[in-house]
Amino acid sequence: MKVVLCGGGNAVHVLTALIGALPDCEVSILSLYDDEANRLNEALVFPTSHDKREGITCTCDQGQKVIGQPVIITHVPSQVIPEADVLILSLPAFCHALYVEACAPYFKDGMMLGALPAEGGFDLCVRDRLGPKRMEQLILFATETLPWACRITTFGQSVEILGTKKTIDLAVSPLSATFKVTSFLTHVLGDAPVLVPCSLLALTLMNINSLWHPTIMYGALRQWDGHTPFDTIPLFYQGADAFTGAMLTAVSNEVLAIKRQLLLTFPTLSLKGVRHVSEWMPRAYGEGIEDTTSLTTMLQTNRGYRGLRHPMTLVQKEDGTKAYLPDFKYRYMTEDIPCGLMVTRGIAELAGVATPQMDAILLWAQNKCGKTYLEDGKVALSHPDLEETRCPQRYGYTSLESFMRDNHYVV
Ligand code: NAD
Repeated sequence: MKVVLCGGGNAVHVLTALIGALPDCEVSILSLYDDEANRLNEALVFPTSHDKREGITCTCDQGQKVIGQPVIITHVPSQVIPEADVLILSLPAFCHALYVEACAPYFKDGMMLGALPAEGGFDLCVRDRLGPKRMEQLILFATETLPWACRITTFGQSVEILGTKKTIDLAVSPLSATFKVTSFLTHVLGDAPVLVPCSLLALTLMNINSLWHPTIMYGALRQWDGHTPFDTIPLFYQGADAFTGAMLTAVSNEVLAIKRQLLLTFPTLSLKGVRHVSEWMPRAYGEGIEDTTSLTTMLQTNRGYRGLRHPMTLVQKEDGTKAYLPDFKYRYMTEDIPCGLMVTRGIAELAGVATPQMDAILLWAQNKCGKTYLEDGKVALSHPDLEETRCPQRYGYTSLESFMRDNHYVV
């Protein structure tokens, strides 16, 4: 198997180690980001000691180490894509379109094109860039979330898995390729997480990042005055209070209302993967959660979330001391709103489901990011910012029927 990984961040480091270590796989890295491919090559092949490295070392959550070496690291798609059996996009979702477009001329028929993770509207983005015919010549797959929480320890050299999820959902299109994709991913990931089949539409609606990140930021920062710096960076999940827990519950209830409405209109639809967040949490993290009394306590006591803090940038106060300001350019906003919550919000609008809690978060977030995604209580159809999103309206869908049929969610 020739596997190409797109990107150069945390997830690509882990995948390089895991796939590079397999005797029957060859892994390459394609990065279109700045001079990232050069920097990776330098870190791996020309480290300061001038010894060629064995590859990227991944320290797994049980402490064992896996080392894998990429055969090629490049920024030129034609060097790696024509031979690729599998292409994995494992980078923020706002980069998916860039990679699909750059690589499309070299895709071979039957290639597996996957996103780890999908975020919302991954399939809409691929269809838009490739067209329906070309898309059908590929096998598309996507997971609901990344299999692990992971962080690079030394760029181009080492990465750490902080926690592995117990179970994650996997969507494959066409369905007939499910066994092929599942076998490949299980070969790479090992015993955990367990991969559970679900539909691409369920992945979009159950995009956990888009539920957690903007809602937790809203919960913590909605009353912030917009300028006073913080002396310390607040904890992200452990710092979630009862208001945030209630808001997450309400937003998740709205997602379930969308699911109910879709099932009323299309009773044969497969949306099993769409669950309430208070059900998703123990399913994904199991015994890693110390107190399952409420969603708030689950957020506060999930070991996999321990120590993670709000995205903030360092500033200096007038007296020269360090302080921190919220970073609204971080991917919790720039990825999880346009490729996450807005996709769900767009589907709600097509289905005629009101989402007042989701709207409150989106209006607050777009104001903080200087964007216009919603206008007068609706998706801002004529605003140029819509182009950044992956909501159905961005691809021209204004009717639920055509959205569902064109994307083969129903036949
Ligand atoms: P990352 O932030 O480490 O990825 C950064 C990479 O994305 C860069 O190295 C670059 O290759 C690419 N990139 C970023 N901005 C770009 C731009 N403007 N143009 C082109 N390329 C750009 O991401 P990650 O931590 O590896 O996560 C990958 C995906 O998994 C993301 O969608 C993330 O939300 C999700 N996720 C990550 C974790 C985690 O623990 N790391 C957990 C759950 C979900």
